[in-house]
Amino acid sequence: MEALRYETLQNGVLRCQVCPHYCVIPKGSSGICKIRYNNNGKLLVRNYGRVITTHIDPIEKKPIYHYLKGTKTYSFACMGCNMRCPWCQNYQISQITDATQFDKGIAYQPMDHIKMVKKYALPSIAYTYTEPTMYIEYALDVMRLAHEHDIKNIWVSNGFISEESREKLIPFVDAANIDYKGDESVYREFSLGHEDHILSTMKAFKDAGIHLEVTTLLIPGINTSHEMINHMIDQLIKYTGKETIWHISRFYPAYKEQDRDITPYEILEYAKETALDKGLKHVYLGNI
Ligand code: SF4
Repeated sequence: MEALRYETLQNGVLRCQVCPHYCVIPKGSSGICKIRYNNNGKLLVRNYGRVITTHIDPIEKKPIYHYLKGTKTYSFACMGCNMRCPWCQNYQISQITDATQFDKGIAYQPMDHIKMVKKYALPSIAYTYTEPTMYIEYALDVMRLAHEHDIKNIWVSNGFISEESREKLIPFVDAANIDYKGDESVYREFSLGHEDHILSTMKAFKDAGIHLEVTTLLIPGINTSHEMINHMIDQLIKYTGKETIWHISRFYPAYKEQDRDITPYEILEYAKETALDKGLKHVYLGNI
């Protein structure tokens, strides 16, 4: 399968336009995600239709609290992520270390997902667990079919998607949960992304009328200073308004961050109280 968007530079070198890394990829090489690769002047996708996990979850687990409340959602993922967070809870399926990992995926046609949703009479599909922008070519094929069958699409993402991909995606997204990790220093030092892209994705979704919820994992020593918490709340209000639903999630040791402490409850409470004081109307503590 060919990648969603790219341009051809000189000598068969390609520039991928799927996410804001905009990788420049010579023949025979892959981009940062290791998913899109230059096959003799064509940008191809390694994970199309290779499904690594499927589940039926309560929608509140995404977390989505204010949309299709009390329902369950059919959730699936293909491998990959364009970030490198050392605290990732799904690193076994998000982080690609070698191309043979794609062999673990099971081949599903887009219609196979719709059949499952119909079989269990579910109202929605969630694109989740890994970073769905990494399988956007496949997700869009499923999302189109979902809308034809009156099924809602829920996008659970780190928000690091290019404007070009976003434009193609937005018409098919009904609800989204975007992960917001902190200020630019957090993205630069730990995650391999940029805060302004994440905020502009949230704003674009909100402006398009997509139901938006936001999640922040508060990790001691990384994004838990009062200054950082206040910054995130101010940015959330500035870009998405006071109606935005904010989930504050507690950190537990995971992946490369085994020695870091669990988030103290007082920090979670401080973030919630400060957000409410500043005017955010819907703030929830999660994972506690
Ligand atoms: S999707 Fe992002 S990380 Fe992957 S090749 Fe394209 S620009 Fe690079």
